[in-house]
Amino acid sequence: MKWTKSLIQTLRENPGDAEIDSHRLMVRAGLIRKMAGGLYTYLPLGMRTLKKVQQIVREEMDRAGAQEIVMPILQPSELWRETGRWESMGPNMFKVKDRAQHDYALAPTAEEAVTDVMRGIVSSYRQLPMTVYQIQWKFRDEIRPRFGLMRSKEFLMKDAYSFDTSMEAADASYMAMFNAYKRVFERCGLKAVPVEADTGDIGGKFSHEFHVLADAGEDGIASCDGCGYAANLEKAERKALGAGVGAGECAGVEMIPTPGAKTITEVSKFMGVPGSAFIKSLVYLADGKPVMVCVPGDRDVNEVKLKHFLDAKKIELADPATILEYTGANAGSVGPVKPAKEIRILCDQELKGAKGAIVGANKDDHHLKNVDLDRDAKIAADDYADLVIVRDGDICPKCGKPMAIKRGIEVGHVFKLGKKYTDAMKGVFKTNELKEETMVMGCYGIGVSRTMQAVIEQSHDKDGIVWPTSVAPFAVVICLLDPENAEVAAIAEKLEADLEAKGVDVIVDDRVERPGVKFKDADLIGFPVRVVVGAKGLANGGVEVKRRADDKSMTKVVPPEAALETVLAAL
Ligand SMILES: [Zn+2]
Repeated sequence: MKWTKSLIQTLRENPGDAEIDSHRLMVRAGLIRKMAGGLYTYLPLGMRTLKKVQQIVREEMDRAGAQEIVMPILQPSELWRETGRWESMGPNMFKVKDRAQHDYALAPTAEEAVTDVMRGIVSSYRQLPMTVYQIQWKFRDEIRPRFGLMRSKEFLMKDAYSFDTSMEAADASYMAMFNAYKRVFERCGLKAVPVEADTGDIGGKFSHEFHVLADAGEDGIASCDGCGYAANLEKAERKALGAGVGAGECAGVEMIPTPGAKTITEVSKFMGVPGSAFIKSLVYLADGKPVMVCVPGDRDVNEVKLKHFLDAKKIELADPATILEYTGANAGSVGPVKPAKEIRILCDQELKGAKGAIVGANKDDHHLKNVDLDRDAKIAADDYADLVIVRDGDICPKCGKPMAIKRGIEVGHVFKLGKKYTDAMKGVFKTNELKEETMVMGCYGIGVSRTMQAVIEQSHDKDGIVWPTSVAPFAVVICLLDPENAEVAAIAEKLEADLEAKGVDVIVDDRVERPGVKFKDADLIGFPVRVVVGAKGLANGGVEVKRRADDKSMTKVVPPEAALETVLAAL
């Protein structure tokens, strides 16, 4: 491929709306171009990489025994209504009408569609297990599209769905996908770590996310170097040390005025005591039922853990009227000692044995000090649980070593769904005793376009992208410095043909440009190997071969006839 014949345009300036390196580089290297917020055109270079990522995904899905299908993007609302998700997906789902006023979704995912397909085909246990997948465009009405392809309105996803006869059998399907995912990301040159995840609104039994660790990642991950435990912050647990709050043995409770101080920070400043001496108390509604939740003053409640502990469908902070009714005070002066009305008090396990702590007094602008939780609040043993968001230095629940919080970009997700969709949509089969049973499902996603960007986020330097060969738009660039010199051009031409014959993707930069411009573009786009063919170089010993990832000092100068071999070795 000749540069002058291809649609490549690099940009010197960073796009104004790009907040992270990979977004800047994708636009500047001419991989994508923005059409509108969250909508991008994939230019030829971007398309080449996208297709390579797709191909790796496809090969690994096929190898794991999954079969490729394609389902409509435009899906009738009836399917979504069968599971209640027409409503519960909320404003994230694009909804459109046809000319007959029928409702459709632009699919953000396809559990309903695939369950519809499978219930129409599967009738017997003999047809199971079965895993199908598609690589299809998905839509999401992002309120604030950002980070390029990371959070866009339209994105390419591989979604796979497994169907099994039992929960046990579904474990094998899950593990097959889990292992396939590890291979996909490895082959894309990505260091992606599997992380325990909450199953969220999609429901189900257990799940892992695959994260690419990067400072620009939107998700927090608690990870332990000691034993390899890793979980996203929604899910992450920690071993509480206990009695970490309060000054210790204390005299009777004492009320102190704290006028105007509402937050822990304000009260702690007012009293001159650190936030960790406080117990933060919040009133939640769990499926409409009020519960007071107490955590150490310098900690935040993890609402996902709270929701699971209470086995509630919905958790929300209580409205001011409810808070006043149950505690006798407004938020900011609420505490676990003598609330106005009987209310369940749930404490983080770190508060166990807390003595000499400071809490809200259930009286506006007042706090209580010298609080001994057991003595003054009478908390039951089963009202202690792990309820806070894990932070740096917290103790690993598995091995007891301190954990670190890292940032990650989620590139894949595997879910054991159970019967959530097949129950709702009557996805049944007959057992060998001709008994009717419900199929057990798993669902498995890879953000294909997002994976492409994650590779860049993990592999770039100040000059541009550093592609792994497996997904580079071209593996080799030949910078032809004197295109009008017939002898030089012939050498470049021969090397191009030889490389292509070996199945290597190669582009020849045959533009009439200064060498500096060509080198800058080669580094910006990030081709894994750069070959320089020029009259001056040939006079001085040959052609230059350099790997993008290597330092300048590692450049090799070889005679033209050794170029092919040197490039292949460099790849
Ligand atoms: Zn550990």
